Amino acid sequence: MASTRYDVLVIGAGIIGLSSAYHIKQNHPELSVLVIDRAHAVGQGDTAKSNAALRDTFTSTVNRTLARSSIEFYKHVQSEIGFNLNLDLVGYLWLLSENQVREYEAVEAEMRGQGTRLRTVEPDELGDLIPDLVLQPSSQQSGLMGLEGVEKGLFSIDCGTVAPELIVKFYENELKNLGAKFQFGTEAKAIRLAAKKSLGLPGEPLVWQDKVFKEVDTNHGPILADTIVLSAGTRNPQLLDPVGIDCMVKPRKNQLFQLRGSPLQRLLTTKGFNEQNTTPFTILPKGEVYFRPVPRERSLWVGAVAGLGHPFMLEEEPAADETYYAQNIYPVLSEYFPCFANLRPVNMWAGFYDVNSLDSTPIVAGVGNCIITAGLSGSGIMKADSVGRIAAALFDHKDEATLFGDRRISTAKVGLVNRAVEQEKFVI
Ligand SMILES: Cc1cc2nc3c(=O)[nH]c(=O)nc-3n(C[C@H](O)[C@H](O)[C@H](O)COP(=O)(O)OP(=O)(O)OC[C@H]3O[C@@H](n4cnc5c(N)ncnc54)[C@H](O)[C@@H]3O)c2cc1C
Repeated sequence: MASTRYDVLVIGAGIIGLSSAYHIKQNHPELSVLVIDRAHAVGQGDTAKSNAALRDTFTSTVNRTLARSSIEFYKHVQSEIGFNLNLDLVGYLWLLSENQVREYEAVEAEMRGQGTRLRTVEPDELGDLIPDLVLQPSSQQSGLMGLEGVEKGLFSIDCGTVAPELIVKFYENELKNLGAKFQFGTEAKAIRLAAKKSLGLPGEPLVWQDKVFKEVDTNHGPILADTIVLSAGTRNPQLLDPVGIDCMVKPRKNQLFQLRGSPLQRLLTTKGFNEQNTTPFTILPKGEVYFRPVPRERSLWVGAVAGLGHPFMLEEEPAADETYYAQNIYPVLSEYFPCFANLRPVNMWAGFYDVNSLDSTPIVAGVGNCIITAGLSGSGIMKADSVGRIAAALFDHKDEATLFGDRRISTAKVGLVNRAVEQEKFVI
């Protein structure tokens, strides 16, 4: 089959591949850029499964920077460019037990020091603002589950929710306007290395030869490219392991459940936190159970962070399981928020976190003429624009990337070789 050649080939049209393609193409409109995806449209992978909540509340400075800049860019797109992203800054509310208040004291002080806008909400005020919240669960079941009382609310102001399908639409439109090409239903099967200077020897590239990434085998034949950007999310390792690159990504299934019903109306119309007069994205003190308001659908999405005890395993068609909700989430949720009692999910779905098993922080790495974006660890929507700008800086062989809002970050920091990031403790 005849092969085609591009200056840049991006594998994966999720939010990360699109942001990377956009920033590279914007800096170099003259280059030919092709984005391929095994799906039939943009944003059909984990981007479509997301809660799409945004926060600048992270324990790691790098994560705070990546998220804050991306959130500001989305604000800019919505308010200054005028492209609606359904960005609602409803805030994040951590309901903390006494132990958690102590555990996060130092981080909270550090975040405040670095400009994260946090408001402490004392229990009395919480009770007034959220009448549906039980501050001190006291039933027999709550005792058995070890549920602790809510000692304090920590409200993070510059956080909220967004529609990822609109962000990917924005990037797709911009890329098309700039002349980038898309090829859907095209699956990368293997990335091929070649000798930088071929001598026509059998078995090239040989160990002593300098190597370049030369082409990608797909179900529609090979595609040659001068630079390959690998943004295949949880499937990155399938393409990188065979060429001996460890991107430290492991897939972990996460499920979301949509709840609707008149008992939830008061929660959905909570006043006192945001302009939207709705409940913030709220995290409960136990089991990392959380809910996200979706006032447009008059519903809440509910989930829990899958951690210890949940396997790292990729499934072709991940499905949510109502039993998981009933056994793992509902018992905690209904003790703190009895308004959920007896409601069953009206919808549910599942996707994967591409967990960076080392430090839960994105990897943006240049390996020769291949740029790898990986390990978004459940927060890829809120960091996508920054990751794309770092990928573009790597493309230009820059040591430093300039993120939206003129924030600078060393590209090596988030790479694979001289990585310098702290272990993230707030993975939600
Ligand atoms: C339940 C759930 C809740 C989440 N909540 C949040 C949240 O609140 N906030 C947040 O910021 N993030 C959240 N995330 C994480 C976020 O969705 C991801 O970090 C983000 O979507 C990753 O984007 P991506 O482009 O890397 O991956 P994807 O969107 O998966 O894109 C990768 C693309 O590559 C394509 N692809 C894969 N292999 C190949 C191949 N071999 N050839 C061609 N194409 C290929 C796929 O089809 C896919 O379109 C959540 C994720 C889940 C599952």
